[in-house]
Amino acid sequence: MTRRLQTYEGHGITVTFDPERCTHSAKCVRGLPSVFDTKRKRWVDVTAATAEEIAAQVAKCPSGALQAVLPAERTPTTPERET
Ligand code: SF4
Repeated sequence: MTRRLQTYEGHGITVTFDPERCTHSAKCVRGLPSVFDTKRKRWVDVTAATAEEIAAQVAKCPSGALQAVLPAERTPTTPERET
């Protein structure tokens, strides 16, 4: 497997994986197996769950190898604005 940073772009979320940081705890694979499947060459399928589900699972990665970027308008910390 390549040791370079991997990027997986989907609808509403981009996931990056840094193999240098992964501690192989398999939390991602057990937690959301439809998205994280090491049997696939492109092992992160960002179309297999909602962006929110993927972001929640990425947040549980103990090493920080997985990171997720959501568009600014979809982040829960962005306050709603009345116009
Ligand atoms: S949860 Fe993070 S550290 Fe564990 S296997 Fe997945 S990417 Fe690697």
